[in-house]
Amino acid sequence: TDEALIALGTIGERASSLFNPSLRLGVTGLSRAGKTIFITSLVHNLLHGGRLPMFEAAWSGRISKAYLQPQPDDDVPRFQYEDHIARLVQDRLWPDSTRAISELRLVIEYESASSWGRMFSGGKLNLDIVDYPGEWLLDLPLLTQDYRAFSRNAVELARSSARSDLSGKFLARASQVDAHGEASEETARELAALFTEYLAACKADSRALSTLPPGRFLMPGDLDGSPALTFAPLPDLDDSRAPSGSLQAMMERRFESYKSVVVRPFFREHVARLDRQIVLIDAMQAMNAGRDAVIDLERALAEVLECFRPGRNNLISRLFTHRIDKVLVAATKADHLHHESHDRLEALVSRLVDRAAERIGATGADIEVIAMAAVRATREASDTSGSEALPLIVGTPIKGDEIDGHTFDGETKTAIFPGDLPKNPESFFEQLESASQPTIPPINIVRFRPPKIERDERGVKLSLPHIRLDRALNFLIGDRLE
Ligand code: GDP
Repeated sequence: TDEALIALGTIGERASSLFNPSLRLGVTGLSRAGKTIFITSLVHNLLHGGRLPMFEAAWSGRISKAYLQPQPDDDVPRFQYEDHIARLVQDRLWPDSTRAISELRLVIEYESASSWGRMFSGGKLNLDIVDYPGEWLLDLPLLTQDYRAFSRNAVELARSSARSDLSGKFLARASQVDAHGEASEETARELAALFTEYLAACKADSRALSTLPPGRFLMPGDLDGSPALTFAPLPDLDDSRAPSGSLQAMMERRFESYKSVVVRPFFREHVARLDRQIVLIDAMQAMNAGRDAVIDLERALAEVLECFRPGRNNLISRLFTHRIDKVLVAATKADHLHHESHDRLEALVSRLVDRAAERIGATGADIEVIAMAAVRATREASDTSGSEALPLIVGTPIKGDEIDGHTFDGETKTAIFPGDLPKNPESFFEQLESASQPTIPPINIVRFRPPKIERDERGVKLSLPHIRLDRALNFLIGDRLE
């Protein structure tokens, strides 16, 4: 019977994982949070014996070998590590960012610290790294909504003060159409395009608002232009049934397809199989953009964390067969700050995670938080010309970028005063709660080129420099190398 087969399958899986242990590590975050850079640097540092003092297994010399092998899933694109590392190290340019799901298997051979480990795993761990857009996670709440509820929520947010100036064109056009009028492909396409345009405008640097569902509108993967993505919310729908053949009926059907052919399979086939998860966030960008962006990041983070602790809703928890047992939220690009501010960034993000967890009725206690730079593009210096030493960071700004009317040539090293983060997370968020804009001192975010790789005293090229990547690794996989 099917059940017996499933049981046999499970036993088979268990046995094979006992002798050939593998760990699926999910890497996610909203677009440009730093997923591609994180994976590339992680792999490079493990392949080339990087400096990882806080990653016990590596630092104690127990990792004997690490190498890439074909991934287990043939139907998922491979993470293009070789292309990304060539661009980073040889061209000193940032590689293309994540646009869809991809996977890479890194095999780590190690000497087990325990006899139990030596007996069963033979000291080999298959680390399957799964890279996917955080935008796709934001679709989870849609599974519990029908088209009417989705429309109501989406239109309410579009009309909110943080977004109304960006959604005007979409809302104006959507309020002209007759939902019960005849379905038209042209109208559906026009509305979907205007809605996507509005979602993209929210993401622009100056606003830095986090994405809203449907996640595939901005990150379509290979579904660009398909009917399941050609719909949009409609404003002010009444409770009456949509007549068959009407625009609303067409939108309803496509929304249901989006859920059944896009969202549900993604969760079932990918998210539900993960063992560990790192969520990358660009907290500094949000803080620089101001109050709305920080509150919005908190909302998005709450929705993302909800995906890793399903259970409150039956419809959703049925999709998950096993639990992710470790979640790490990492604030990336800490190399834009002087090290004095790294702990402040960590404290701010910890508070943000606690607040996000409260929103979903959880505590942030078992979620680890870290401030990190997967690739460190700067070094530190100080300006001692004044009465107090001023902390500076030094790097090579990207060619063509501008500050105060000066255009950088992409070759010249430049020292920048990065700015300070607020010392006290509590008072920062208290100010955020009050209606006034909090006084967030702007951080100077200059985009630097990736660093030149140094050589050691024997002339051997070192791996990519980083900040606290070793701590992230220790938390995410350290216990599986014991
Ligand atoms: P994602 O794949 O969309 O999540 O984002 P990427 O990994 O492509 O990162 C987006 C951009 O952020 C990169 O092109 C870099 O400019 C910058 N970035 C990401 N990680 C780091 C980092 O650790 N340090 C610095 N300085 N910049 C970073």
